[in-house]
Amino acid sequence: MKNIAVIGSGTMGNGIAHVFALKGFKVALVDVSAAALEKAKATIAKNLDRQVSKELISEADKATALSNITTFTETAKGVAQADLVVEAATEKMDIKLEIFRKLDQLTPASCLLASNTSSISITKIASVTSRPDKVIGMHFMNPVPVMKLVEVIRGYATSDEVTKQVLELSRTLDKIPTEVNDYPGFVANRILMPMINEAIYSLYEGVAGVEEIDTVMKLGMAHPMGPLQLADFIGLDVCLSILKVMYDGFGNQKYAPCPLLVNMVTAGKLGIKAGEGFYQYTAGSKELVVAGRFKK
Ligand code: NAD
Repeated sequence: MKNIAVIGSGTMGNGIAHVFALKGFKVALVDVSAAALEKAKATIAKNLDRQVSKELISEADKATALSNITTFTETAKGVAQADLVVEAATEKMDIKLEIFRKLDQLTPASCLLASNTSSISITKIASVTSRPDKVIGMHFMNPVPVMKLVEVIRGYATSDEVTKQVLELSRTLDKIPTEVNDYPGFVANRILMPMINEAIYSLYEGVAGVEEIDTVMKLGMAHPMGPLQLADFIGLDVCLSILKVMYDGFGNQKYAPCPLLVNMVTAGKLGIKAGEGFYQYTAGSKELVVAGRFKK
């Protein structure tokens, strides 16, 4: 594999483009928003700079990685030569199905189609293509250049050969792939999201404040980040979408999103990307300022 196309250049897409480009792949980064592509290029350069300053890569590695990335607002142009597409667009079923319908028509027949979805059924996504054996979940973790795990999700029809190829490819990115089956939330979010939702319920019911809840989980459970800060980091809209998929998929009340989460998403308080979620952030950075409107 040589040519990778990444669809969506937000929080995850820019990180996925970053790791492939750094390993010498040619990356076509596609987004419907030209502004998102500009922001992604700046983020990738900034994150590569951080790796240079930590002496993890050289200036030459950075320059090569940047030169390996080309951006496109037109999907057709970006994916025409692709050996693998990794879709990292907004976590909405209708958006993903439309993208995969198009990808099936626009990519070479041999091209593998992966989704970075956090929760949406790979089997469902594969069903709108004529190549369900070549559709697979490639669930990178945030921030992609740092986190080792790739949760590799086999849809009902994903072939052994394609699974093997994607496991190997993940290893060439210096990631550690773990194979799981296709059920709502897979493994990572099936366990993580109920914890985040419960933390939000604890805040909603007044059991404790934002910082207190996060402190309990950081110091008591040795989590590097509290669940509310992690939710801001992931994006509250993404958390809500994942919970809805699990709620619908299992029909179990335990996945029902907390009304406070629903309200915050409706109000546009999406976490770091919006400058405010449970905490407030200095514009365009992950610098935590204060525990948002929940400050005591
Ligand atoms: P995001 O909102 O930051 O970015 C999504 C991008 O997709 C936006 O730039 C948007 O313009 C673009 N987009 C929307 N429709 C498109 C289309 N039709 N074609 C091309 N681009 C399109 O979202 P994100 O947090 O990067 O999430 C992307 C995917 O990764 C989702 O499926 C999400 O569940 C998954 N994911 C997110 C995280 C996380 O921590 N945020 C972690 C793992 C997986």
